[in-house]
Amino acid sequence: MTVICVAGVMLLRLATLALLPERPVEDDGARGTHTPAPSAEVAKDSTPSGLPGSMADGSEADYMGPRQDAMFTVLRDTLKRNDSIYQSLGRQQVCRAQIASLNGALNEVFDTRRHVRPGDWYELILDNGGAVQRFHYVPGRTPEQPILVERRQERLQARRLDLPLTRVVHGAEVRIQDNLSAAIARIGEGDALTDLLADGIFGAVIDFRRDPRQGDIIQLLYEKLYRDDQFVRYGHVLMARYQGQVVSQTGIRFTDTAGNCGYYDADGQSLKRQFLLYPLPFRGITSRFNHQRHHPILNRVVPHLGTDYAASTGTPVWATGRGQVIHAGWRGALGKAVFIRHPNGYETRYGHLSRILVTKGQQVQQKQEIGRVGATGRATGPHLHFEIIKDGRHLNPETINRGKRGEPLPPELLTAFHTRRDELRRRLEAETTTPATLATAADTESLQPQP
Ligand SMILES: [Zn+2]
Repeated sequence: MTVICVAGVMLLRLATLALLPERPVEDDGARGTHTPAPSAEVAKDSTPSGLPGSMADGSEADYMGPRQDAMFTVLRDTLKRNDSIYQSLGRQQVCRAQIASLNGALNEVFDTRRHVRPGDWYELILDNGGAVQRFHYVPGRTPEQPILVERRQERLQARRLDLPLTRVVHGAEVRIQDNLSAAIARIGEGDALTDLLADGIFGAVIDFRRDPRQGDIIQLLYEKLYRDDQFVRYGHVLMARYQGQVVSQTGIRFTDTAGNCGYYDADGQSLKRQFLLYPLPFRGITSRFNHQRHHPILNRVVPHLGTDYAASTGTPVWATGRGQVIHAGWRGALGKAVFIRHPNGYETRYGHLSRILVTKGQQVQQKQEIGRVGATGRATGPHLHFEIIKDGRHLNPETINRGKRGEPLPPELLTAFHTRRDELRRRLEAETTTPATLATAADTESLQPQP
């Protein structure tokens, strides 16, 4: 590792200009996070780039800046797995006393043990005496909230900045060839957008494991948030329209006067239902779990009520509806299990969990994480055993919402909703290429068969 010293005269600008190292303009898209800056890189460049949304907010006025004849060392690193800021600084030969005083300052605004993640990166400026002048720490997932530590006279002072993100609305239209994830990938977008659609907006009304057919079309109007022209994460999906052979559905994001937001079809009916179709993320399900006819442990045919979803250990398990936990603990062959009682005589059960995250008696919300997938009890591999029961009868979770309609918006909000709907529709039309397929109030009825 070579350390390049930068002449102090260049660094005079430090007093008023915030430092932000150049970094690769690239993101993996898949998680809505940045590709980290190169590891353990030492500044090659003596000209610091300014940080837009400048931190030169006048509060530096009392800071006279480094001495003009000083030499500075700029160190940069990106944290690796199981890494810590202090291990990284140690690798770069920063002396212990300086690490300790930096630690003291950082701990005032930031939990350096719990909130550090691989991919976070920093830039450290040391003077020629090896003393910390400035430390700029950028969380990979929330680069708009960097931590800035600066020397004010003899003390290091830390603060967390809250920089604005730029919100840009994008439109897209994509044809399904095999599945939703692949279709979203073809328009250059990441899995986080698939999650918003499959688990969020349409999680109770479109079964993305079974309903899509080749040639179905999905049109989207969605926000992407940027920091310095780099994608940070997705914002809201403003409108999504799925037109398929098995199911067609429009989802329009609408916020009411009380600030509650939800997704509605073109008639203003909510896409919410009492139950989600799946108790775990769409992308987390690897397959339907195949029970062998002869149970490999009992070596006899075991009657099986419920549905099994293969998923890797640790995959989140959600309550499919609002309710009260009536069992949370070991239950025979189900291993670690959670049972939830819901309104209208329903009960859901979740078995073979590796972890339980709720306690008996607790109220849970729809899509609240109640546990993690595991293989406890009588299970041959990690999977979720899921049951939905009404009045003692087992129901098929994947058809539970068929024929059910959502709550309509109150009549006094309909005018505002229609205005918003038409505005988004025009925008979607302008952004996509096949306006003929656009939603109309008449064709948003689900094409799903009635039960
Ligand atoms: Zn099972």
